[in-house]
Formats: sequence, structure tokens, C-alpha cells
Amino acid sequence: MGEPLDAQALRDIAPVICYPNDSLAVPQAALDRGALPLVPVSRVTVPAREAASIRVKAGQVLRIHCLDGPQVGDLNLFNANDLSERFYSGKTRALHGSHVTTGDQLWSNFPYLRPMATVTHDTLGWYGRDAYGGAVHDVIGTRCDPYTARLLGGGDYHHCCHSNLTRALADASGLPLLDAEPHVHDVLNVFMCTGFTADTGQYFMKASPVRKGDYLDLLAEIDLLAVLSACPGGDCSAQHSSDTAVCYPLAMEVLDPKGAEPWQEPPLNSYSRSHGV
Ligand SMILES: [Zn+2]
Repeated sequence: MGEPLDAQALRDIAPVICYPNDSLAVPQAALDRGALPLVPVSRVTVPAREAASIRVKAGQVLRIHCLDGPQVGDLNLFNANDLSERFYSGKTRALHGSHVTTGDQLWSNFPYLRPMATVTHDTLGWYGRDAYGGAVHDVIGTRCDPYTARLLGGGDYHHCCHSNLTRALADASGLPLLDAEPHVHDVLNVFMCTGFTADTGQYFMKASPVRKGDYLDLLAEIDLLAVLSACPGGDCSAQHSSDTAVCYPLAMEVLDPKGAEPWQEPPLNSYSRSHGV
């Protein structure tokens, strides 16, 4: 079957938003809490081309901090008490769009589907969307990994984000390396500037606008285990999965909102799970 006579008319149909998110409650309690004075509790440095983990209690703020030069981070989030509940990049994208910023929430997988964290401050919020359709902090990429490198004919590189996250999760959880690996999931690409090309729809990256001192604050809606890889692509202006890009460390800092009330975790999703049976 070739192109129908009304092909252009079909292309001209206006799109509708799949998941209108205006029925989602504005996470005002989280935003207000994240705006309180923040008292440092703990921190970990994420060395360049490595990953590290930190635990965050519900109601605390996790700050991902650019300490030095431009550097992208690949973030995994888990329920600290149950690794089966983890960040769901795809549904977060469906609900909030391809990139997140202040006021957006990071959702967990089925059957939990509840906010794990809320973005309460984003020093790169000024970037918006550029002429290429690029924006910062995407939920469209996956993470650099050695399997795709093999697929595309590259050599093995063991300090890609997937391997970094796997090693760090194994360390944090006590699981053997190969038992930890299946828990590693599609990331929030913190500070990364990405989009899809207008002509071919391909995933692109460009130099991150992040600079020393920039940070992204996430209010932990539930107890979190956060694992962050300082991507071997550095600012991801040229390539990843190699030792050629200039890379810098990042930090994860846990901050206590001063004078805040005890935090109420969001309930699990209320679907019965009967699936019609
Ligand atoms: Zn990476």
C-alpha cells in the first residue's frame, strides 16, 4: 500500500497530549520544604568515571552538585528498604515530558507508581529548550553501557555508567555483582543536554551548560538509595564510553530542611492489581 490520497491531511492532524498532567497535584508540600534553609547532613564525592551511593531519608533533600568542571551524572533511585521499587524513567517522561525541572516528580515503577522524589531547585532552569530542541536533565536516554558498545562494534569499556552503577549498587546492597546488575535501570541524566533531531528523530547530546556550583535538588518523597555515575563522557559534548573526554567529580549531598514537620510518604498506587481477573 502506497501513500494514501489524504496523506497530508493525516499528517496535519493536531496532536493531543497522551497524559495531560494538569490533574496531577502540584507537589506544594515538597516545594515548600525544599525552600526551607537546608542543613548539611552527609555527602559523598562521586569520582570521575566512577559511581557512588548515598542514603536519603524521606523528607530530606538530595543535592547533586557540580563541584568542578562541566560534568554529567547518571542517576538511579531505589526505595532504600526495597530494591524492587525503583525509578521509572519512561513513565516520568510520559507524565512530565522529555526533561525535568523544578516542580516535576520522579516516579517509581509498577505496581508502586508513586513519586519517589520531587525536583525542588534547579540552577539550570534558565536553559529552557534551545533551537535544536535540546534541554537539560533528560529522561529519554538510558545510560552508556558495554552491551550497546559491543552492538555498535566498539571495544569493551568498563567505566561506562551502567558498569559504574552496577559496581556501586553491589557495594551498597551487598548483592553479588551479577545479582545487582538487573536492578540497574534507565537513569535521570542529570545536567546532560539532549534532545531528538528534528529530521531523523535520533537521540542527540551536546555540551552541557553545567558549571562549577550548579546543582539539582531532589526532595526525597520516600527513603531513597541514590546511586550516581559521573559519566565518562564528561560534559557529553563529543563522546562517551572512553577515556578521552575530560571528566570531573560530582557530589551527592544530603540536606535537612530546617524546622520542617515530619514527612508523610506518598501512599502506594491504589490500583487493585486484579487485572480484570
Ligand atoms: Zn554515561
